[in-house]
Formats: sequence, structure tokens, C-alpha cells
Amino acid sequence: MCNDFRELINKMTLEEKASLCSGQDNWHTQSIARLNIPGIMVADGPHGLRKQISEKAGQGIGESRTATCFPSACTTACSFDRDLLFQMGQGLGQECLDQGVSVILGPGANIKRSPLCGRNFEYFSEDPYVGGEMAAALISGVQSQNIGTSLKHFAANNQEKARMVSDSIVDERALREIYLSGFEKAVKSAKPWTLMSSYNLVNGTYVGENHGLLTDILRREWGFDGIVMSDWGAVNIRENALAAGLELEMPPSGSINDNRIIAAVKDGRLPERVLDTAVERLLKLIFKTSGNERPVEEPYTKNHILAKKLAVESAVLLKNSGLLPANETQKVAVIGAFAREPRYQGSGSSKINPTHVSNILDVLSDKGIDFVFAGGYRLSDDETDIVLLSEAVDAARGKDIVFIFAGLPDEYESEGFDRTHIDLPESHNLLISEIAKVNAHVVVVLYGGSPFVMPWLDCVQSVLMCYLPGQAAGEAAFDLLFGKAVPSGKLAETFPQFLSDNPCYPYFGASKTVEYRESIFVGYRYYESAGKNVLFPFGFGLSYTTFSYMNLCLSKKEIMDTEEVTVTMEVMNTGDYDASEIVQIYVQAPESKIFKAKKELKGFAKIALKKGQTGFITVVLDKRSFAYFNTNIHDWHVESGNYTILAGASSEDIRLQDVLKVTSSSAETAVPDYHSHASAYYSLENSSLVIPRQHFECVYGSKMPVVTPARKGSFHMNSTLSELEVSYIGRVFGRYIHKRFEEQYAEDPRPDQIRMMEAMYADMPLRGLVNNSGGELGFAVLDGLILMMNGHLIRGFISLWNGFR
Ligand code: BGC
Repeated sequence: MCNDFRELINKMTLEEKASLCSGQDNWHTQSIARLNIPGIMVADGPHGLRKQISEKAGQGIGESRTATCFPSACTTACSFDRDLLFQMGQGLGQECLDQGVSVILGPGANIKRSPLCGRNFEYFSEDPYVGGEMAAALISGVQSQNIGTSLKHFAANNQEKARMVSDSIVDERALREIYLSGFEKAVKSAKPWTLMSSYNLVNGTYVGENHGLLTDILRREWGFDGIVMSDWGAVNIRENALAAGLELEMPPSGSINDNRIIAAVKDGRLPERVLDTAVERLLKLIFKTSGNERPVEEPYTKNHILAKKLAVESAVLLKNSGLLPANETQKVAVIGAFAREPRYQGSGSSKINPTHVSNILDVLSDKGIDFVFAGGYRLSDDETDIVLLSEAVDAARGKDIVFIFAGLPDEYESEGFDRTHIDLPESHNLLISEIAKVNAHVVVVLYGGSPFVMPWLDCVQSVLMCYLPGQAAGEAAFDLLFGKAVPSGKLAETFPQFLSDNPCYPYFGASKTVEYRESIFVGYRYYESAGKNVLFPFGFGLSYTTFSYMNLCLSKKEIMDTEEVTVTMEVMNTGDYDASEIVQIYVQAPESKIFKAKKELKGFAKIALKKGQTGFITVVLDKRSFAYFNTNIHDWHVESGNYTILAGASSEDIRLQDVLKVTSSSAETAVPDYHSHASAYYSLENSSLVIPRQHFECVYGSKMPVVTPARKGSFHMNSTLSELEVSYIGRVFGRYIHKRFEEQYAEDPRPDQIRMMEAMYADMPLRGLVNNSGGELGFAVLDGLILMMNGHLIRGFISLWNGFR
């Protein structure tokens, strides 16, 4: 233990130490006045600061102070711009300083396993290299302001369905190569001050109780030296979580879980030194951040400009048959309710209260551009409104150019639930195809946090994907559409042709055991290896200019895997606009008995070039660029052989390549015998898989039998329990869960928020009864109920009785 805190910890009582391991309320750590230990404030993230006005306990998606709403991670990832992400981090950090927040809860580095995950908009990519690089840059930016970050949601948390109880069954290679390596990169290179453990289980153990993940891998292997906090309400058995390496429970569960820590120390189940170590880490964070207030100049004006820059640099031009950029003298029709009310961010705990939102209509008016506007569809539902549709078609007739703003509405994607399809609302699709029939100059501008299909793609001339561009949506769209800026974003995820092409389609969204049967074949790793056509490949994005790639050069032709190799290349802007290009470096492994993706992204560089200008890019490859995770030695290993280094404008558009001979520095290890493993394995020819099955009985983490708390007085039960059990459980759970739901519904009655809260409570685990009762109900009551549910009626009743006394 470090000397600074030993003295302080020695003065603390056991109760004080335990109390520091959970929050004081929803957003503060515990303060201890007797010892001058202050509480620090944490607040959501990740793409803006959401400091709630009311800080009372509860999940709290209530009103928050205004702050800059930057583009979401799904958007900023497409910029492939580490410097910009760093600047965004600085901007976030300054707003934290301005609002007295010590730690911002983000970024999220989870992998987009399926386009259906409701929270994909908060995550960067289907590729861990991109995700890790972007997360690291953002973290470094925030922390450069002496504000902490919380890298989340660690780990294998790739769906919203039943997120508090689902068990991600992932084989060791996929876990290491796909689901952990983005976190690893961010932890190793940016050293986040905190990390948030996710709700779910991984291979049968809650992440929050997973010593292997939280201590062996995170701390011992990657050198993490911050604190681990729980996702909100994620703690299952508190003393086990503390022993596994989870220092801070958020929000607090009254003093119920602190008392469990005290009891475990007293009866010797938890060594006091484990608690002391946690307390030491917490004190380090608290004292590092609590004195960090420094006056900052009002950050919001310059952050709005930065938000615009990020939106501009991240938009992806998906199609352009010469219609863009538009000309300010053209006769313009702007169609679609999203033009007036852009969809600029996603729903859930990351929802920012923006300082200002710009829309394209206001910008066009300010610039004096001659345009007509028609709404075309309603935002309140998906039904086509024939009157709005025909007004829009009329408005589009005879115009030089038509901009149709369409995409995914708020209710389509959110924290708390997943999508079930990848379609746009029918009213948007119909609008686009009907307008395309009367005007051959259609540009579709799209909003949304995840891929969708575009049945009208062949009928329109240009498509600009803006994702969720943040509060400067209108200004960014104007600059891009009218050539004040040139699109340079590239997709950080694949747009599939059909949802059923996605490799995890049959297994995604299970409510208990979620089988990651596709193993390492996620995103382009799968589509390419399986030879599937896609709508738009990973890394794809057009420009108003053209680039040519020349003179790929490797600093060495042969290396040991302990050495690095530098890849250099020239890029020339051969078109008519100054613009930026994102060059991607992929590595293709030699033939092997070990299953590998066709190629993997191992580097990228972005370069700004004036028209006619040539520039150099440099990417350094190291051992990890060639390694796979060998489950025999439980370590990274490079197979000796000839690796092909590919330079591409997208994963499909490879322009240059060269071969590098890499020699392994360790003895060639035997190829893992996947068939004899109890863990999962995958092969493209045969997707059979061995998965450890979970023993199922009602435990703290079992899903609650209360499904629809929305109807007063009646609770729809979704369980196979007997009527007697259900009525006991229903009465006790129902009362509390309904109360919580109503409180939170009242805080923010927007449809997307209600849908999220409903979904969350529907999938809440049994322990949610204790966590959500604000200390009114303890574990004795829950134990009683669980005993009864497992058939021990009398013992259960006694425990219940004792709990209520
Ligand atoms: C979310 C976290 C968020 C926390 C606090 C949880 O439900 O999963 O991402 O930081 O709430 O709002």
C-alpha cells in the first residue's frame, strides 16, 4: 500500500472503509467528513456531458444541464481521426471542469457484433483496432484536462436484450482477439482512471465478479491502475465483486451491500487487505480528481464549432453520380421531417441536453438559398401520411436538386432494447422512391446510429450518411452538400445486404445464454471470409475528389516478430477539390491450419491534401499486427511465414500490396485442438460449436418474472413458476418495480425513454428488487422469495418473515 494513504486508511473504521465502496447517491462517491474525504461527482457521457439537475438516487434519465452534444461514437469512428477525437476529449473535459464533474462515464469500446444492438450508436466499430484507437484518443483528450474517464462496458456486452442477466458464451480466441483487444489498447495506451464493468455474465460468471477479467487480465496483464466501477445496478453479490476487483458499486443500494462487505470481513470470507486495497485505489482517484477544479473559459461556443468539425469529418458519402456538391444557385427542394428536426443523437443514459441544435432549413435560409420544404412523413409514427407524401412529391417536381432527409427515428434504437430488423420506416422508403419517380436529381441524407437497408438505392443519385452528427447537424450537412467541405469519412462497420447475412443473426438477442458461435468472424472478418456480398463494405466512403496510391514500401522485407516494420506510401490528390483521405492497412496471414479471417485491419492514417498534392503516410506494424491468440499457451503468438501487407481505400478496394516475411521468436506451438476443448470453436465449413451449458435455477441474477409494469395494479407474468410462487413474487416485486417505473417515467415521458424503461424493468434480475428498493428491502426478503421459487416454501417463508420484521 502506498504510504500516502496508509495512515488515512488506518484511521478508518471497517464501516467507513466499506461505505467508500459504494456511491453516496446516483452520481457521487461517498464522502467521509470526519476524515476530510470528499465525494467526487461522476456523470454520463460518452459524447457529451449529462449532468443531471436532480441528483436523487435512481436510474435517473431525467433533465440535465445543457452541454455540447458532440456526434456519437458511431459517427466519430468514421472520421478515423485520432487528433479530432483527442480534441473532442479536451472539449468534454473542459465542460466537466465547468460543471464540477470529476469523471465522465465513457467512452464505450464494445464491438458491434450485430447491427441490431440498440446501443451500437454509442460504440465505435465492428473492428477492435478502430474501436481501441478511437477510445484511446478520446480518453487521452479528456484526461489531459485532469478529468477522469470510465471506459465501458467491460466486457462482451454486445446486446441490450436482458443485458443484466444475459451470459455471453465466447470462446477464448474471440474474447481476446475481438471483444477485449479494443479495451486492451485503450487501457494500455491511454490509462483511463476508471473502467465500468458491464451488467452481463461472460462464460457463466458476472463480469463484476469475474476475477479473471477484472484482476488477472485487466490489472495484472494490462497494467490498469484505476478503479473499476459497476454499471448502474450491476452488482450481484457484493463481497464476491470486491474480491474479484470491483471497487465501486454505483449507485448505492442503501447500506445493504456495504453491510455484506462488513459481514464478509468479520466472518473471514473476505480478507480485510482486499478491502484496504480497494479503499486505497478509491482514495487515489478521489484525491486525484477532487482538487482539479480550475476556472475554464466558457467552453460551449468553441465546442459547438468542434462538434461541427467532427460531424463534417465523419459523414460518409455512400453514393454520388455527380450530383454533389450542389450549387447555391440551383432551385432546391428539401424534403423530410428530419430536415427540420434532425436525429442527432441516440436515446438512453447518453442523451445530452444540447446547448443548441442546428437544422439545414435555418442554415439554407441564413445563406439566402432559394428552397422549398415539405415534411413528407410524420415523426410520431411509421405510417405513410398520404397528404404529406403528395405535398412532398409536388415540392420535388421540377427542382434542380432534391435533398431528402430520412433515417432511423428515435424509437428505433436505444439503450435498453435492440432492433428486430434493419429497415427504415416504410414512410421514409416510400417517400424516397416516389420522389425518385418525378425527379432524377435526388440526394438522400441519412441519420441513424446503425446500418439499415436501402431498397431505393439504385433510383437515387447520391447518398450521404451522417449517422448521429450531434448538435451542429444542420451546419455540417450544409457544408458537405454544397462543397464547403468534402466528405472524407469511411464506414467503421459493414452495411450488410440482408440482416440474415450477419453471422450472429440466428443467435443474437437470446435472453439468457448468448452464444457467440461466429467466434472471431465478426463484421468484415466474416463477410469477406465467407464471400458474402454486402451493401457497403467496412472502410468504404467516397469523396468529391479522387486519390491515387503509390509506392508502398516496407522498411524491411524480413523481420523477427519482436521487431517492428514501417509501412510508407504516397497518396496523391488527383481530383479537383482539397480533401482528406483515410488509408487502411490490412494484414493477410499465410495459409495456416488455424482459422483466420481473410484479412484484418492493423493500421490506418488520414492525410489532408490540396488538389494535385502528394503526401506520405506512415504506419508502424508490430508483433500484435501478425499475432493470433493461441489457446494452448494462452498468449499471443505469431506463426512464421509470409504475410501480405495491403493498402486499401476500403476493405474491398485494395490498391497496393507487398509481402513481409515474419519469423516467430518463440517455438512454434502446436495448433490448438479445438475439438478437445470445452470452449467454443468455429470453422467456416462447419459452424458446430461446443458450448458449456449453464445450470439454471433461480438465483439473484435470474430474470424477474415481472414483465410489464406499465399497467397499474396488474402484472403480466412471464415465467413457468406455479401460481402460488408467482403471486408471492408478483406482489412483492410488483409494488416496488412499479413504483420505480412510475417515478422514472414521470422524469422523462418521451416515447423512446418510456420504451427503454419498460424494456429495462422487463428484463431486470431478481436482485433488482433489493437494488431498486432504496434500502427498504434487504436480501433476507429476496432470499426468502428465491427459496420459495426453488420449491422450498417453508424455509423461504421463514426468511421472508425475518426480512420483513
Ligand atoms: C448505462 C451506463 C451509464 C449508467 C449511468 C447504465 O444504465 O449502461 O452506460 O453510464 O447507466 O447512467
